[in-house]
Amino acid sequence: MHVVVLAGGIGGARFLLGVRELGFDVTAVVNTGDDVTMHGLRICPDLDSVMYTLGGGADTERGWGRAGESWVIKEELAAYGAEPTWFGLGDKDVATHLVRTRMLAAGNPLSTVVAALCDRWQPGIRMLPMSDERVETHVVTEGRAIHFQEWWVRHRGRVPAERFVFTGAAEAKPAAGVLDAIASADLILLAPSNPVVSIAPILAVPGIREALVDASAPVIGVSPIIGGAPVRGMADRCLATIGVEVSAAGVGALYGSELLDGWLVDDSDADTAVEGVPVRSRPLWMTDTAATAGIVREAVDLAGLS
Ligand code: GDP
Ligand code: CA
Repeated sequence: MHVVVLAGGIGGARFLLGVRELGFDVTAVVNTGDDVTMHGLRICPDLDSVMYTLGGGADTERGWGRAGESWVIKEELAAYGAEPTWFGLGDKDVATHLVRTRMLAAGNPLSTVVAALCDRWQPGIRMLPMSDERVETHVVTEGRAIHFQEWWVRHRGRVPAERFVFTGAAEAKPAAGVLDAIASADLILLAPSNPVVSIAPILAVPGIREALVDASAPVIGVSPIIGGAPVRGMADRCLATIGVEVSAAGVGALYGSELLDGWLVDDSDADTAVEGVPVRSRPLWMTDTAATAGIVREAVDLAGLS
């Protein structure tokens, strides 16, 4: 069975561990809206979170970056007063960014770069960026737009956001392989990723949402909100910004019945109703791979495919 998963970084990566566990043929379409250039390096946080996590090289305590990381380069940059100093740039991580930046500069599309990096990490799934073109999530705050990373990492999301803009999305195309993967999928899953800054940028690439709606495969979403709160991260701030209630019902309605064929929520949200969408509840805590695989199994069942 070919399963296509739309995913952001940490939540997406943890979810993909559970999908992979079930032995499916998996294609992950990963958000690149968080991508940013710093110190001349092209950085793809969500792609790297997925690649390191599935490749067994992630720091699961910290939640991002490499296990056993050192920070010499970051300290040396700070000693030069080289801005930005607020972005975590580990030494091992920098090697990934160097390889990627060089390959991109040589004219390779991002999807080719991802495949090359995955030769080392062997994630056991096919990873695709949502687009080979640059799409960057910006946050309009106090009348000016800043990169999402600056709002999220530097300001911890505490500067009031007025709205999110997916710069470049309107002109972007789905990356090589994305539309074919969706068309040939038996099941499409929306990971419990941040709906506003992980899933929405993917859906903003012209052609992807349409392909999902047209796909013969059922689309099942898994709620990132449990009992009115994001399990971790700041999805609540993002949802508040776009005026969506921080609840499983709010996110389910945001995706809506055009996209969703099923919406999986936590048992604490068992009373959730989304117009036109079958809703089912079960525990949605991704505490370990076995627990996450159980969530995926339920999504398969909700799709009528078990
Ligand atoms: P990011 O790009 O690294 O922020 O990661 P994602 O967007 O892929 O995922 C972040 C979201 O995952 C958070 O907003 C949480 O709501 C959600 N999340 C994290 N852990 C869990 C979990 O154990 N269960 C569920 N249902 N959602 C989770
Ligand atoms: Ca992200």
